[in-house]
Amino acid sequence: MNGLLDEHERTLAFAEVALGQIRSLRQTAVPRNYEIWYVYATGYNPALNNVINETLARNGRLTEADLEQIYETYLSQIRISERIDSVGARVISEIDGVMKVVTEALAASSTYGNNLSGTARDLAATKDPKALITIVETLVKSTREMQATNQTLEDRLTSSKQEIATLQQSLEAVRNETQSDPLTGLGNRKFFDRAIEDAIRKAAANDEPLTLLMMDIDHFKSFNDNYGHLTGDQVLRLVALSLKQNVKGQDIIVRYGGEEFAVILPNTPMRQAITVADHIRRAVMAKELKKKSTGEILGRVTISIGVALLSQSDDVHSLIERADGCLYAAKRHGRNRAICEADPEYAPDGIQVA
Ligand code: GH3
Ligand code: MG
Ligand code: MG
Repeated sequence: MNGLLDEHERTLAFAEVALGQIRSLRQTAVPRNYEIWYVYATGYNPALNNVINETLARNGRLTEADLEQIYETYLSQIRISERIDSVGARVISEIDGVMKVVTEALAASSTYGNNLSGTARDLAATKDPKALITIVETLVKSTREMQATNQTLEDRLTSSKQEIATLQQSLEAVRNETQSDPLTGLGNRKFFDRAIEDAIRKAAANDEPLTLLMMDIDHFKSFNDNYGHLTGDQVLRLVALSLKQNVKGQDIIVRYGGEEFAVILPNTPMRQAITVADHIRRAVMAKELKKKSTGEILGRVTISIGVALLSQSDDVHSLIERADGCLYAAKRHGRNRAICEADPEYAPDGIQVA
C-alpha cells in the first residue's frame, strides 16, 4: 500500500511540474504537450531534456513547430516498443484461444472414440430391435456433437487465420519503423547493416560493381552551437532531401549516425559514383538556409564524402572502413569535397597526410 502511495505522490509531482511548465510557458494543455513535459519532469529521456533546455535558453520559448518536432523525434519512437508489446500480447492471447479450442476438440474426439467403441460392443451383443434403435440414436447424437465441436474448431481457426494476417501486417509496420529514422524519414543504421550485406551479396552473385558513399556534414557542431539543435535538426532534414533528390532507382540512402549519411549504389562503377557524390555535394552547398520562424539567413552547410568501390577481397567492414578513410581524407584536405580511394589524398592506413 505504501509503495502505491509513494508512486501516487511521485507521479503527482511529475504531473505538477508538467502543468506548471505548460502554464508558465503559456502552451496549450493538450495531451502531446503534457506528455512532453511529464517526460521532461521524470528526466528519463535526457536527449529530450537537453533539446528543451537548449531551445529555451536560446529562444526563451518553444513554438508549436518546436513541440511537434520534439514529440516526433524523442517520443514517437517510444510508441514502437509499446506497439511491439501489444502485438506480442495479441499473439499470446490468440495462441491461448486456439489452444483452448483444440484441447476441447481433442477431449470431445476422445469421448467420441470411446462412445464408438462402446457402441460397437453394444451392437455386437444386441439382438433386440428396440435396443438397436436406442444405440443408433446415441450414435447419431454423439456424431452431431462431434460435428458441432469440429465446426467450432474450424470457425476459430478461420478467425485466427485472419487475426494472424493482421498481426503480421502490424509487425511488418513496426519493423519498418524500427528501421527508419524519424527525423529524416530515411533508413537508419539498423536498416543500413542489412541493406549493405544484401547489396554486397547481390553484387558478388551478379558480378556487378558496388560503390558506397559515406558522408558527414562539415563543422556541424559549430552550426548547432550558433543556431541551436532544433535548427540543426532542420538542416539534417534538408540534407536528407538533397540526397533523395540526387539518387534514383535502387540506390539506398540512410542516416548512418548523428550528422552522417551513407548511400549504397548498386551496379555503379567508381566513375559514376564520384559523379553522384559530386551532385549531392553541390546540391547541399547550393541550398541557402533560412530560419523558418524568423526568415533569418543562416548561410550554407557543406558535406564531405568518401567513395569506395567493393573489391573481391572486401567484406562489409573493410568496404565501410575504406569509404570512411576516404571521408576523413576529404575532411583533412579542406572539407566540402568527395575523395575516392584512387585519389592521392587517400591514405589507406589512416595516417594524416596534410
Ligand atoms: P567535421 O567537419 O569535422 O565533421 O566537424 P563537426 O563539427 O561536424 O563534427 P563533430 O563530430 O565534432 O560534431 C558533430 C556534431 O553533430 C555534434 C552534434 O552537435 C551534431 N549532431 C549530431 N547528431 C545530431 C542531431 O540529431 N541533431 C542535431 N541538431 N545535431 C546533431
Ligand atoms: Mg561526424
Ligand atoms: Mg561533421
